[in-house]
Amino acid sequence: MRIGRIGGRLSLLTEDRALDVEKASGGRFSADPDGIYEHWGEFTQWARGRSLDDATPFGPQQVGPPVQRPAQIFGIGLNYQAHVSEAGVRPQITAPAVFTKFVTSIAGPYDTVTLPSNRVDWEVELVAVMGRRAYRVAERDAWNHVAGLTVGQDLSERTVQLEGPVPQFSLGKSYPGFSPIGPAVVTVEEFDNPDDLALSCSLDGEVLQDGRTRDLIFSVPELINRISAILPLLPGDIIFTGTPSGVGMARDPERYLPPGATLTSTVEGIGTLSNHLVAAPHMSGIA
Ligand code: ZN
Repeated sequence: MRIGRIGGRLSLLTEDRALDVEKASGGRFSADPDGIYEHWGEFTQWARGRSLDDATPFGPQQVGPPVQRPAQIFGIGLNYQAHVSEAGVRPQITAPAVFTKFVTSIAGPYDTVTLPSNRVDWEVELVAVMGRRAYRVAERDAWNHVAGLTVGQDLSERTVQLEGPVPQFSLGKSYPGFSPIGPAVVTVEEFDNPDDLALSCSLDGEVLQDGRTRDLIFSVPELINRISAILPLLPGDIIFTGTPSGVGMARDPERYLPPGATLTSTVEGIGTLSNHLVAAPHMSGIA
């Protein structure tokens, strides 16, 4: 099952058609895509096997982020060994590096993103969406708490992130538009192996990152186990699970996103984000 935000309303999706959930359910479920995770068990029972014959075509301009106001957004740093190495981090990673991306950074899968500086970097990531409250959850039970998976870009302004006495991951990764997600949430049972998905990103067709989620140091179940040992994950919360190697900061010379280009980000079995990049007004002339 695929769900998304079409024209601002919760919809069941095929590749190019959408069924409005509130209308199809006779008002049993709200049109608000953010509210559905509180009723996830009941909703999936209703939705599974439902005919999509009445679904209607939609275009990319109607598609918003599948989740827009999660209570909590978790980001994970340094979660692929090849990315740890390119980042020059020496000590062995013994616990996930957790930060937040503030909710106002969420954007839609096809939204234009404004670059606040000439040091904005790309990080394609698998994003997990929680379907049940998870507190002190064992790894073997963790997937049962996930509603589905989506694609994310953890855009990062490296100067804000890294300057100062201690790094400011959460601020450097939370400019408006810095968390595009979508185009759909795909439920876990749709994947042959949700722990091994190809993910990649490209800039105007040039491949920048190309990895597989089997190379995560801490898998989705391990992350839920580790985070939920400390605090409860809530329905609708999202986890950016970390990025594979190939980021711009680690290149020689360093490389960052240019205004005028289009960044595409893909996860196998889910879909592709396509975000056009523009300069902030004070950046004019930098391109
Ligand atoms: Zn990241």
